[in-house]
Amino acid sequence: MAPFAISDGTCEFCRKGLQTSCVHGQFWGGETDGAQGEAVRVPLADGTLVHIPDRVEGDEKLLRALFPLTEVMGTGHHAALLAGVEEGGTCVVVGEGAVGLCGMLAAKRLGAERIIALGHHEDRLEKARAFGATDLISSRGEEAIGEVRDLTKGGSDHVLECVGAASAMQTAIQVARPGGTIGFVGVPIGVAQEGLDIFGIFRGNLTLRGGPAPVRAYMPELMEDVLEGALDPSPVFDMTVDLDGVPDGYAAMDERRALKVLIRASG
Ligand SMILES: [Zn+2]
Repeated sequence: MAPFAISDGTCEFCRKGLQTSCVHGQFWGGETDGAQGEAVRVPLADGTLVHIPDRVEGDEKLLRALFPLTEVMGTGHHAALLAGVEEGGTCVVVGEGAVGLCGMLAAKRLGAERIIALGHHEDRLEKARAFGATDLISSRGEEAIGEVRDLTKGGSDHVLECVGAASAMQTAIQVARPGGTIGFVGVPIGVAQEGLDIFGIFRGNLTLRGGPAPVRAYMPELMEDVLEGALDPSPVFDMTVDLDGVPDGYAAMDERRALKVLIRASG
């Protein structure tokens, strides 16, 4: 099983568990192809790949539960860790895409008691309950922020920003409790142009922690939970295509007809 980032497993950053900063690292789709084919040559395979136990072979259900560990589940877990989600605590998840949903699942796994999901799409928010959300907020802007502040009596200590848009980061800053921490894993597209509310961060003594998730570091631990039946992110897959169906799979995600598409290369 290969994560979305290729890494050697031996450099300073890999040894730290920060494989997305590997000095020899790269991402699928760069110099390599996108890894969507019948067979794939994996660069730096010793560092990149994680062995799936033989007994899983042919177990469709378990394989579907394992695949999200290569990307969205590991990323959601990263957000929850960065946000410092605590046992028995409350957290807010901004975003109800595949990463946001996995962030909820990760927060639940880490013991969060109350998980407030913020998003705009009713159907996806409903799905959020299955991923561990205890409260769903679908209103926008100031109204949504006010609702979170009411529910949390002034904001949450732990906020997972799982979108990457400037508006989502702004929401995260505004729903964070003074002294709180925001874990951000959404690629910050547009944030640089639209600006970051640095005064809001300053005023609240907020901590921002974020970056591309080193999912390779988390895969063994999360795999153990999947194999024990304690973790199942497979419901993020709501569409399956064959290789010929890949363009339609991308279109479906772009048009929000699908949350996450599974490609079955053969059989
Ligand atoms: Zn490395």
